[in-house]
Amino acid sequence: MTCLKKEIALPSRAGIGGLDFNAYDVMAPRKPGATPATAKNGARVKHNNVPPEGVYLPNNNRLAPHMRSPEYVQMSTAAAITLGVMPGKMHRCSCTRCLNLLLTYPEGCRANCAYCGLARHREADRDYADRNFIRVDWPAVPMDQAVEIVASQGEATPFHRMCISMITHPRSDEDTVTVLRKWTSRIDPATVPVSILSNPTTMTRADVQQLRDLGADIFTVALDAATPDIFDRTRGKGVASPHSWAKYWEILEDARDIFGREKFGAHIIVGMGETEHDTLTLVQRLVDMGGHSHMFCFFPEKGSLMDHLPATPRDQWRRVQLARYLIDYRGVRVEHMRFDEQGRVADFGIPKSEMDNVIDEGVAFRTSGCPGKVREDISACDRPYGDSPPSNIASYPFQPVTVDIRKIRHQLGMEKPGEAYVEGEELEM
Ligand code: SF4
Repeated sequence: MTCLKKEIALPSRAGIGGLDFNAYDVMAPRKPGATPATAKNGARVKHNNVPPEGVYLPNNNRLAPHMRSPEYVQMSTAAAITLGVMPGKMHRCSCTRCLNLLLTYPEGCRANCAYCGLARHREADRDYADRNFIRVDWPAVPMDQAVEIVASQGEATPFHRMCISMITHPRSDEDTVTVLRKWTSRIDPATVPVSILSNPTTMTRADVQQLRDLGADIFTVALDAATPDIFDRTRGKGVASPHSWAKYWEILEDARDIFGREKFGAHIIVGMGETEHDTLTLVQRLVDMGGHSHMFCFFPEKGSLMDHLPATPRDQWRRVQLARYLIDYRGVRVEHMRFDEQGRVADFGIPKSEMDNVIDEGVAFRTSGCPGKVREDISACDRPYGDSPPSNIASYPFQPVTVDIRKIRHQLGMEKPGEAYVEGEELEM
């Protein structure tokens, strides 16, 4: 298994119509189709009832076993390689620092988010355990096996953080608690702290408090959409999905109150039709609340309701990535920045020499997420190639080196004299 796979959706050089951003009008999801009764609610898996045996590697050509959390969890390909439960290698990364766990059920996620490979409408064509999510496969592993391996590694574990990703399912709240208890009963949260990627739709404030009381360190809410309108269009009524912007904010504010400063955050996907000003206003709002934003570059996930749409042009992505870093970690405010009539960043609000230093340091362009043990602004959750192919990296899962910075500067239109980027030079490394 490898992160280098045949790509069907390469990132566009520009948005539709030659724009250097993904405009609202073109980023409309398809409508979900009907699902046959024989495929609804994991019917195939439950009918065949194949008992699971150890690690299950996604394979749409054979019967998916009947696996459920909390006994089973899925984990990212990168996490499974790092844990040692599947073979493989990753382009320019030796491991991931975050053990991303995903609850799993034959019925799958009952939401229908338009950009997501796990969405409910996909039950028409593949079983839940065989679906791709943020570009990669998610093997299913017995939870006890994952805990045993990490516990036996002790302080030497490669993981700096573990994250439980909830999905929209009636058992999700209860099983998240069980998975967290299984973890903390064997692994000191001071050695490997735990983040919760929540599902606000089924949660109450008491659920948030319980997870904090049981030792969770950081709580995040995947807003994903930067505006209420785009939220509704991509994960609410627009696609027959149960989520609401108001409920997500209610739980985010509960997390602020319960987990406290620097211990909560929100995911935002860039390039779903919002303006750069929309995204950065939201980033500022989160910082003003005491939290952080974790950014994802929109990628047309195969099988999703948005797989016909362009990936975010790299100009837009780099501008937002850089501006978000300045707001989150360098004390710059969105009001210090200047935006053009289409909401694009026209001025980042800091002197050129300071900007050069931030760009050349490269951290701004790494994957953003909950911190590990290196620095507060370096995410343990590096999600190798979760939002782009290795051939045109959006979020760098490693420290960018000189050749990468040349490419980033080229994408930003900020090349230094005499240091022009040569197409493809970083791939020769
Ligand atoms: S709730 Fe999360 S896992 Fe479920 S469809 Fe939406 S984005 Fe995907």
